[in-house]
Amino acid sequence: MPKIHIAWKNDEYDCDDCGPSFANGATVKIEDRGDIDMSPHAYCYDADSHSKLEVYLAILERIGHTPLDANEPQCLELIAGFGYEITEEDGD
Ligand SMILES: [Zn+2]
Repeated sequence: MPKIHIAWKNDEYDCDDCGPSFANGATVKIEDRGDIDMSPHAYCYDADSHSKLEVYLAILERIGHTPLDANEPQCLELIAGFGYEITEEDGD
């Protein structure tokens, strides 16, 4: 069974003018399909932040199946349905 490993990440940026800002994201390794870099970058403007749903949809797109509409549990179900085993870790 091919494996997908998702490392969830957070980023934080503290600006003297704007105050703190936060971003979420992940790096993903998909066996036989390469990596997806959705690393977060917090900044005053143009921050890179990706929700869990965006990350799951990117994984589905990479393995060749883009659902028109799905929530997080449905995405996980679809990914598992295509025969992938998902492991997740919380990092920073
Ligand atoms: Zn700023």
